[in-house]
Amino acid sequence: MTDKVELSRVPKDVFGLCDKLRGAGKRSWIVGGCVRDMLLGRDVADWDLCTDAKPEELTKIFPRAIPTGIEHGTVTVVVSGKHYEVTTLRGETTYTDGRRPDAVHFVSDIAADLARRDFTFNAIAIDPLDGTVIDPWEGQKDLAARVLRAVGDPLQRFGEDGLRVLRAARFVATLEVELDPATRAAIAPTLGTYRKVSHERIRDEWVKAMKARRPSRAFEVMKDTGILEVTCPELLLGVGMEQNKYHAYDVWRHGMECMDACKGDPILRIAALLHDVGKPATRAMGEKTQDWTFYDHDRVGAEIAEPICQRLRFSNDERARITHLVRHHLFHYTDELTDAGVRRWVRRMGKDRLSDFYALNEADLRAKGPDAPTDLSALAGLKARVEKVLAEGAALSTRDLKVNGRDLMQELALAPGKILGELLDALLEVVTNDPAMNERDKLLAKAREMVASRP
Ligand code: ATP
Ligand code: MG
Repeated sequence: MTDKVELSRVPKDVFGLCDKLRGAGKRSWIVGGCVRDMLLGRDVADWDLCTDAKPEELTKIFPRAIPTGIEHGTVTVVVSGKHYEVTTLRGETTYTDGRRPDAVHFVSDIAADLARRDFTFNAIAIDPLDGTVIDPWEGQKDLAARVLRAVGDPLQRFGEDGLRVLRAARFVATLEVELDPATRAAIAPTLGTYRKVSHERIRDEWVKAMKARRPSRAFEVMKDTGILEVTCPELLLGVGMEQNKYHAYDVWRHGMECMDACKGDPILRIAALLHDVGKPATRAMGEKTQDWTFYDHDRVGAEIAEPICQRLRFSNDERARITHLVRHHLFHYTDELTDAGVRRWVRRMGKDRLSDFYALNEADLRAKGPDAPTDLSALAGLKARVEKVLAEGAALSTRDLKVNGRDLMQELALAPGKILGELLDALLEVVTNDPAMNERDKLLAKAREMVASRP
């Protein structure tokens, strides 16, 4: 393997930091994800440095550095507004809780620091000043062969830190690499350690996996190794579950294909992953058609998705977005639908969630199987009708009505209370059916009628 690499992509500021450390008699290397991504020709998010300078020396060399994780030997140096993490070389330690090293100890040997890292391609260091590559675990060779391999004994490495098995699955998707067989085989026996990983960290890995071209690569690994059984057994019920004549794939594979086909941010792709999670619980044989049916799987699916989102500690907004999409992912549009029907659907879906629905619906259609031609004409028809309804300025929430609660109280001499909300909802229904009704006088007249006819 080469011991020199092309360094043209290393930012000038990184050379500056290394130079500063050299001036103080210290060595430094770029290391970890940035080296890996640079060698792969991928975008580099963060340039991380490691150095043989001890933490107290680091704070002297960079007096204005932020002591981000000084107890672990990490400071953040800000150069021209960009953040660089500089970390003192650390050695291997013991892990008794399966999550964090028991103690951190600093070393001066770069090889010892690389030996504590998770995968061979994450354990490459480069000294930018002379271009030397330090690659004791042959990470470059694995990168060239696109293989993910644990540093050292995979059983031991996975047994000490439970997050590593999930990082492995995630990298299979984001880097499009394959698991080395011994590394793969070490996942199932070490799941006891994986169980100790916090759900926040699991969620973060899921979200990172969603940035891959095909996140399903990560989820297939999770399914096959037992990781998913620990974190989300609900998804496994769809494995091997045959659908109906419209689908070539089983429920699981359809979810995978839909997630991969879904163009959107990670949360939207989580919704795609979960959109049919209600199918296993609702599958029944249709008597007439003699084919499987999944009545109500959208409603049941939203009920199943809710605790999954809670468990994975998604924020309230994210959880609401995911479960709303699961709940409303089904809509069969035809040209016969009236304008009132379109307005009613937009109200149910929510104006802010239309683009989510379109993206998920398109992915859902594309994920039926290689032989099922994707027909997007109904979706295109729906989009056009929604555009029209929105352009007409139709009232889609009670806020869009030309009267409000205060108007009703004043004009109809009503006391504040539940009745105001009920009246506004009823008026919105009236306006949904007939937009011309959205005028103050007409609405007040209608409201008077409603109040008069109340029992
Ligand atoms: P990304 O930034 O894309 O998530 P990364 O590999 O840079 O990928 P970081 O979490 O930024 O991941 O970690 C930086 C480096 O620290 C890794 O490349 C690896 O060398 C080491 N590392 C991170 N997490 C672990 C871990 N759980 N066990 C061992 N080494 C780790
Ligand atoms: Mg990183």
